[in-house]
Amino acid sequence: MKHKKSIVALAVLVVLAAGSVAAYTLNGDHGNQTSSKSEKSQSSSSSLKDLPKGVKSTDWDLTLVNKWHPLSSEMNFDKVSVSGKVVDARIKQAVLDFQNGARAAGYQTVLVSGYRSIQYQQEVFDNVKKNDMAEGMTDAQAEKATKAVVQEPGSSEHHTGLAIDIAGSDAFEKYPSLEANMDTFDSQKWLIDHAADYGFVLRYPEAKSKIKETGIDYESWHFRYVGVKNAKYMVKHNLTLEAYVKALKEAGR
Ligand SMILES: [Zn+2]
Repeated sequence: MKHKKSIVALAVLVVLAAGSVAAYTLNGDHGNQTSSKSEKSQSSSSSLKDLPKGVKSTDWDLTLVNKWHPLSSEMNFDKVSVSGKVVDARIKQAVLDFQNGARAAGYQTVLVSGYRSIQYQQEVFDNVKKNDMAEGMTDAQAEKATKAVVQEPGSSEHHTGLAIDIAGSDAFEKYPSLEANMDTFDSQKWLIDHAADYGFVLRYPEAKSKIKETGIDYESWHFRYVGVKNAKYMVKHNLTLEAYVKALKEAGR
């Protein structure tokens, strides 16, 4: 049993590493692309006058984790398993509803990833770095190269249990290592277009201005639970979580 477990863990590592390489390639492409979609009008946070009532920047579902706000220790929350992945117990029903909604619209989905501990992220990081060094990089070179493709331990939103990687089954079959252009599939488009109805937002949008705010390249598969009220507001005003939390803070919330 122990042996089987380690094989599964290794497989996950390989998938993650592959995903990272894909993200890196994409990163390289970005400079040449004119962003075609969703570089819509930007609402500056100071123009937001109708922030949802009762919402505070310190609410559990608005927890902000990114490379500028890393966690120094593991978060404490009730964990449950849903569709074979672990998430914060408070979002289990939302994940199920999201997947059921997709199914009712004719799309099967795969929950690819949920909660990841800081320790696990450290293992992923160390593994990618070790591979780079095995291919001849110095320690410093490998550290830098790894940071370009893997979230540093503590700074991955997956530590919160509120983030999920979810894909249309057909999109995932074509791109098992997760790639931005999975959004060419109707299934993935459906997930992106309907996420807010279930309390999720596409966390890392495509527009260059948004990539600057989040610090992460476009990911058509990574969704973050923020609750229906917040999600709908963020979509309406075209806000990243960074911009939304900032607006709440500026409003004294
Ligand atoms: Zn993710």
